[in-house]
Amino acid sequence: MLKVNEIFETIQGEGVFTGVPSVFLRLQGCPVGCAWCDTKHTWEVNLDQQTSLESIRDKRTESDSWCQVPTGTIVEECQQRYTAKHVVITGGEPCIYDLREITARFEKSGFTCQIETSGTFDVVTSDRTWVTVSPKLDMKGGLDIKAQAMSRANEIKYPVGTQKDIDNLEALLQEFDVRQDVIVGLQPISQRRRATELCIESCIKNNWRLSVQTHKYLQIA
Ligand code: SF4
Repeated sequence: MLKVNEIFETIQGEGVFTGVPSVFLRLQGCPVGCAWCDTKHTWEVNLDQQTSLESIRDKRTESDSWCQVPTGTIVEECQQRYTAKHVVITGGEPCIYDLREITARFEKSGFTCQIETSGTFDVVTSDRTWVTVSPKLDMKGGLDIKAQAMSRANEIKYPVGTQKDIDNLEALLQEFDVRQDVIVGLQPISQRRRATELCIESCIKNNWRLSVQTHKYLQIA
């Protein structure tokens, strides 16, 4: 069973899978506490906000309502309602849940899976799941980055506003073991010009990638 805040189909706007039609499965609950979080409505699991799958399916605006759904039902829902064959499990912080069953079920049904996580919990998924870690350091929730999450990452996506962010990322890459083939993507914060220039310089210097948030330019969800 998972607590689902939202489920919808769109185009993945950032990172390695940019442009890929995807079903986004947004799970409820996150203790990380990022000040700039744009999904604060997913933080708390309020029992009085529990609702039905039908209401979640029809959701048109952000809210803290959620439904508890068996993993098999989620997969059937995606098979019946959507054409995308890539599923992005996000939050909230999806890694507060054991995601082995849902990712294995999706894969068995012909989907590929991607997890977007803050790196503050162990990542418990199928082996084939693509793991995108966007490490959240020194947030209000007081959680540390987990070595297991960093070593499991296929992709590390890091928002950059100033040189300090690049320094923090370099320190993280020194501190933790990461896969040799990990893809590091820098994301200019709020598409600011100086941040973009800094990202491009650092990408060229380190052979990293620029992760442009295309959905923000296109103004899609
Ligand atoms: S980890 Fe994600 S959902 Fe949680 S507070 Fe940070 S940005 Fe928001």
